[in-house]
Amino acid sequence: MFERLVPKLRVNTVFDIDLEDLYRQGYRGIITDLDNTLVGAKAPLATPELLLWFAKVKELGFKLIIVSNNNMQRVSRFATPLNIEFVHQARKPSNAPFLKAMKQMELTPQQTIVVGDQMLTDVYGGNRLGLYTVLVLPISVQDEGMGTRINRRIERIALTRLRKQGLWHEEENPK
Ligand SMILES: [Mg+2]
Repeated sequence: MFERLVPKLRVNTVFDIDLEDLYRQGYRGIITDLDNTLVGAKAPLATPELLLWFAKVKELGFKLIIVSNNNMQRVSRFATPLNIEFVHQARKPSNAPFLKAMKQMELTPQQTIVVGDQMLTDVYGGNRLGLYTVLVLPISVQDEGMGTRINRRIERIALTRLRKQGLWHEEENPK
């Protein structure tokens, strides 16, 4: 269980992901979380820097879909103006939203990357299906709801265990 909380890659932000390298390795699709991964949990719209990142993702040949546990209104307001497909109220870490997203992208688990800021939802869900999981640092934990705050507490407990088991090395930690 605890090993499944360990991401394949840890970075500070989505901008630190080496997209070219992942494309060379055969990855073709990105399932990304929204809140605190792309923008802060209370930020309704994409930043200019993020718009450039979306353009780069597309230009390299990746498909991208947002999979969020947040509601229709929140996710649609962000994604619809950008013509980005999304799955809302996803109930990550359950398998269903990940499978749905891959089906929509017409990609296999071997071709798919998951990006998110939470070990219990994004990483655990992605690892269970054998996807390439990327953990980013949360953009801002100040605006997080109760459920996420509980998850963060469990994350800290899990991290202590993983460190003891030698499955989490500080030197890999982002700056
Ligand atoms: Mg999140």
